[in-house]
Amino acid sequence: MRPSFHPRLINGPFDDPGLFIPFQFQHRALIFDLGDINCLAPKDILKISHAFISHTHMDHFSGFDRLLRLTLGRPKNLSLYGPPGFLKNVEGKLAGYTWNLADKYNYPLSLRICEVHPQYTLCRQYRCRDRFKPVQAPVNKPFSDILHAEPAFKVSAAIFDHRIPCLGFSIRERFHVNIIKDGLNALGLTPGPWLTEFKQALYAQADPVSKFEVKFAPQEQAKHFILGELAEKIARITPGQKISYITDVMYSQSNRERIVALVKGSDHLFIEAVFMEQDREIAAKKHHLTAWQAGHLAGKAQVKQMTVFHFSPRYTGMEEQLREEARLAYEQHL
Ligand SMILES: [Zn+2]
Ligand SMILES: [Zn+2]
Repeated sequence: MRPSFHPRLINGPFDDPGLFIPFQFQHRALIFDLGDINCLAPKDILKISHAFISHTHMDHFSGFDRLLRLTLGRPKNLSLYGPPGFLKNVEGKLAGYTWNLADKYNYPLSLRICEVHPQYTLCRQYRCRDRFKPVQAPVNKPFSDILHAEPAFKVSAAIFDHRIPCLGFSIRERFHVNIIKDGLNALGLTPGPWLTEFKQALYAQADPVSKFEVKFAPQEQAKHFILGELAEKIARITPGQKISYITDVMYSQSNRERIVALVKGSDHLFIEAVFMEQDREIAAKKHHLTAWQAGHLAGKAQVKQMTVFHFSPRYTGMEEQLREEARLAYEQHL
């Protein structure tokens, strides 16, 4: 399977946590956490459509300013999700700047900010043309597990205990469309942006007898197919990819159960491993996981691949020991 999502940690394991998830063949990405994002190229930051913030400790949220700076004056709708209190956090950030000329920009940026409570979400719009003063009251919608859904994928979240509420996330593709190269060759087709449209038609459950046009360069002639027939020849459907992100959680029974439920069967789990097991008590005091605990949770949830991050600087030079400890705990479940 050629994955649709290509997740990568933004920084090294001792630096600010955060996961960048660009979509294959699309000018688009999601981001989990917004700490230091200076390592991301501006062209990548501009791909972000949705940002999911676990909590607003500074190492997870200081990059909001960079995101805002780069997107300001662009025709963009950005959605940001965070824990209870997030609306006030973002309003506080926005209040730190002067916006008297913001209504003059040609391309207005619009922010949709949602804070996630155990039973509901509160979402509010902040537009550059209104100088980021909200013009409507927050919209309250029931929430159980799905924060955001599109035909191709959905993002689930759960609230964990880090002495404050902290969100964990999972992105799941509805199904995966594998393109068969031989099928393309047999029809004389070459890959291109049309494949994204083709996949979107399948995700949107378009009528299989509907027409589908394959467009190449503007000067070339388009080719016409029946969607279902084309799908039979060039596509194979397999289960979708699942990527999960867990950080800043304590190793309590309730967290453990709910982490395993959220990340179960992930193709790739990114999970914090702040301390070594020998410092388990410090980890408990600081409401973080040890590497062993991270590996144990990953094994219990039967994830296919695990990456640990958010290492405490006290272990500088010992990253291999942290990874090894997590790996050994994970392998006990194989
Ligand atoms: Zn942290
Ligand atoms: Zn934290």
